[in-house]
Amino acid sequence: MVDDAPARDDTEWNSPEQCPFCGTPLTDGGSGFIDHIDATPACRESFESWIDRVRDDIEGEWIG
Ligand SMILES: [Zn+2]
Repeated sequence: MVDDAPARDDTEWNSPEQCPFCGTPLTDGGSGFIDHIDATPACRESFESWIDRVRDDIEGEWIG
């Protein structure tokens, strides 16, 4: 269930092929990023707090 791209109007998300938190190149946009944060706890934490911010911005729209 990684079809849903991150919010497209998020200015922090410069490239889907690069981790926005540490800059690591990702092999494959969506699932590559999931693999990356899975293997990188620091990035996962950043990603989760990023989601929290997005969820605040567009309540209910992104996560449901
Ligand atoms: Zn990263």
